[in-house]
Amino acid sequence: MSKPIAWSKTATFFEDDWHDGNVPIMGPRTHAAWLGTSVFDGARAFEGVMPDLELHCARVNESAKVMCLKPVVPTETWVALAREGLKRFEHDAELYIRPMYWAEDAAGGAVRPDPETTRWCLTLYVAPLPKPTGTAITLSPYRRPTRDSALVEAKAGCLYPNNARALIEARSRGFDNCLSCDALGNIAELATANIFMAKDGIIFTPVANGTFLSGITRARVIALLRESGAHVVEKTLQYCDFQSADEIFSTGNYSKVSPITRIDDRMLQPGPFYRRARELYWGFARCVGR
Ligand code: PMP
Repeated sequence: MSKPIAWSKTATFFEDDWHDGNVPIMGPRTHAAWLGTSVFDGARAFEGVMPDLELHCARVNESAKVMCLKPVVPTETWVALAREGLKRFEHDAELYIRPMYWAEDAAGGAVRPDPETTRWCLTLYVAPLPKPTGTAITLSPYRRPTRDSALVEAKAGCLYPNNARALIEARSRGFDNCLSCDALGNIAELATANIFMAKDGIIFTPVANGTFLSGITRARVIALLRESGAHVVEKTLQYCDFQSADEIFSTGNYSKVSPITRIDDRMLQPGPFYRRARELYWGFARCVGR
């Protein structure tokens, strides 16, 4: 027997009904369980708000197409179901909201998924927002795949083992997370989030080049910072740019906006742009996230 797991409170809409706990959704014949044909997205609920929920639900439908699945759930249905699911938790519960599609069977033979067998579920579970206490990062020896070598345009489960091995390697050297480069050696993203840095009053983030997830939180934070008058530049960046940055912070659905407080052996303070980005994000979430 593997290690027993104490799942946090979980609610899943699967095959026309809500289920509590870690309801089984796949079997040994399921294509996704065997060959990895699943896509997902992650949104969040906190303080009763679900910022950018619609964008996350729309993105899972785009990811399904990239995976050659059939996105059978309209965005507004995902959103309505998420709102319904939210009522099963405490009003201000901190939740991860995960819509997911997968292939149940192959289209003849084994490898190609049969889009007509696309299945889906929506899972909400208790996952407290990490406190922004600071993250230590380094450079990963592992790179992001390119468009012609993996389904990088989808948020697909099959892309994550590469991120996992990068995280494991970084942790073995005493870091919490790591920057990965693209095939050309330019900085792409952290293993779990997008990355920003500031230098001499200008904020920079790697320009989306198709090799990494150009996040919904990234786009939101760029827009909010620009509206507030900050100068944000999307640009090809190298590791040395981060090593000499005045401040570094990350964005992503799971933790939203978080400060990087160490890069290799160099300590950093949570900076003014990080604080501004986090405040602006929370202001936005509280205002429009209902
Ligand atoms: N990159 C990776 C690898 C991620 O897993 C995430 C989290 N979804 C992000 C970036 C941030 O994307 P988003 O802001 O859309 O959540």
